Amino acid sequence: MDLTHRPRRLRQDRVRGLVSETSLEPSDLIAPVFVDATTDERRPIESMPGHERVPIAESVARVEDVLETGVEAVMLFGIPESKDPEGTRAWAEDGVVQEALRRITSETDAYVITDVCLCEYTDHGHCGPLEEELRSESGVAADGPACEPTMTVDNDATLAALEKIAASHARAGADMVAPSGMMDGMVGAIRSALDREGFANVPIMSYAAKYESAFYGPFRDAADGAPTFGNRRHYQMDPANAREAMREVRLDAEQGADVMMVKPALSYLDIISSVRREFDHPVAAYNVSGEYAMLHAAAEKGWLDLEAVATESLLSIKRAGADLILTYFAEDIAKQL
Ligand SMILES: [Zn+2]
Repeated sequence: MDLTHRPRRLRQDRVRGLVSETSLEPSDLIAPVFVDATTDERRPIESMPGHERVPIAESVARVEDVLETGVEAVMLFGIPESKDPEGTRAWAEDGVVQEALRRITSETDAYVITDVCLCEYTDHGHCGPLEEELRSESGVAADGPACEPTMTVDNDATLAALEKIAASHARAGADMVAPSGMMDGMVGAIRSALDREGFANVPIMSYAAKYESAFYGPFRDAADGAPTFGNRRHYQMDPANAREAMREVRLDAEQGADVMMVKPALSYLDIISSVRREFDHPVAAYNVSGEYAMLHAAAEKGWLDLEAVATESLLSIKRAGADLILTYFAEDIAKQL
């Protein structure tokens, strides 16, 4: 057979590395770390095999475990000793993240990014203080008799809290802050607060396009952040929308975000790819807890090869255009690379 085009020529073992378009490096990965002020011992998280919540005293040891695998960056989440309607422990100087940060940044070389949100700190589990809102059955605000009052997050009151949280994290040594609450104007508010406090060099990684996703389930176990009523659709994005994600990213770019995140990753590869095409910023993707848990569950049943599917999914996220990936697989995959 006289074939001009035989793409198989380049799939032979000795050449495939040379023509490979995408590579995965430990330095692309960020490992989530959960620090829990309510416990004295490391506690495994059932729905996220291999992950645990650690007490403040173990936070340095936990980060050292991560660094040993070759991963250089961690994302810190805190579970406070107490919660209230305003989430005041989120910006306490002796709060769980602040205490852990001071230890981790003075005792390790890890690059520490902090989650800036209120859902783990409010007793109702929403991403900010609440306000009453009148909405009709269809969800459109109106004042006819069909309306009943519902609660939603007070956007502008939340901005003031986010400013305090970000500044307190920076004072405790955060290398980068990552606001995740999808409040309008959050990046601009945090940028000016950091600049005002003398932290002009602390970058912001914005959860720019964060969807109201069912794939977050296991995280809520991990961080105790499930809303006690309702859902987060008033502030997180509708999974049906792609153009709106570009608008969200554009607004964050205008407000000075340094890195743009898309969350979740695997069901939103089209969004990652569009952000990569339309913006010059580094793009981050959050390979979320549900994406981790479902591969583990299938592997436990013997249906999938865990390491192979984990590597293939991370590769797909990079191929779509992500520069950095937050993933619960970070440590396991970095060890294999
Ligand atoms: Zn939140």
